[in-house]
Amino acid sequence: MIDLNEKVAVITGGSRGIGAAICLKLANFGAHIAIIGNSENPELIKQIKSLNKKCIFYKCDVSDYEQAKNTIDSIIKDFLKIDILVNNAGITCDKLIIQMTEADFDKVIAVNLKGVFNMSSLITKWLIRNKNKGKIINISSIAGIDGNIGQTNYAAAKAGLIGFSKSLAKEVAARGITVNSIAPGFIETDMTKVLPDEFKQKSLNAIPLKRFGDVDDIANTVAFLASDMADYITAQTLRVDGGLTL
Ligand code: NAP
Repeated sequence: MIDLNEKVAVITGGSRGIGAAICLKLANFGAHIAIIGNSENPELIKQIKSLNKKCIFYKCDVSDYEQAKNTIDSIIKDFLKIDILVNNAGITCDKLIIQMTEADFDKVIAVNLKGVFNMSSLITKWLIRNKNKGKIINISSIAGIDGNIGQTNYAAAKAGLIGFSKSLAKEVAARGITVNSIAPGFIETDMTKVLPDEFKQKSLNAIPLKRFGDVDDIANTVAFLASDMADYITAQTLRVDGGLTL
């Protein structure tokens, strides 16, 4: 059984979509929740607190190292420890390469990849210093494995994230810290709501399980990887995509 009782979990981009579902799921399994993001979701915080779990929102742009450092310092002060980090914050700026500007490329790399470096390096230092066997879970994408038209920036960041996770997993394995990635397929959130209907129908036809993913499909996978049931799993990338690759 998954038991996260009294664990402290930090979730980036936890205010809505997949991140909000992860916050709620980990709290349901007993974890206290530190949410990092641009905007607060008071309803979510209320729900988590009603489970008798501590929950604090920290406004922070994950791509900014100074903000990230100050935020992690505040979390340690408020929660006294960190056990789980879920790097979930992400953005898209989809364009064909011939239309993509340098700024379009840079901002997606800054949030989706450098943001993961900022959070992971700061928290890994704390985990090692405090001899805490933490779990780091990075939300990548099948675009980072297979590529996708209009997403050279996003796919580069998400592929980079997989290489980052494997390298970090090797560096920290001896400390009992695990690092894994999840590669979601098509999950129904604000991020995918804006895609053209024709593209959505084509994607649905290609999914063997014949449905789009739900945010809970990802949250369940995170809960498993964050628990001691996954203690012997590290450096892996788990596709959660309804069989899209079959
Ligand atoms: P979403 O609904 O657009 O939510 C993104 C979250 O990231 C929001 O909470 C947002 O905060 C936060 N965020 C964005 N930029 C940030 C920054 N600079 N600093 C801190 N927080 C920031 O996206 P989603 O669909 O839930 O996606 C979550 C993750 O899954 C992303 O990494 C995404 O790439 C990945 N993913 C999603 C799908 C999918 O089909 N949805 C598929 C594969 C991978 P605000 O609410 O304050 O803006």
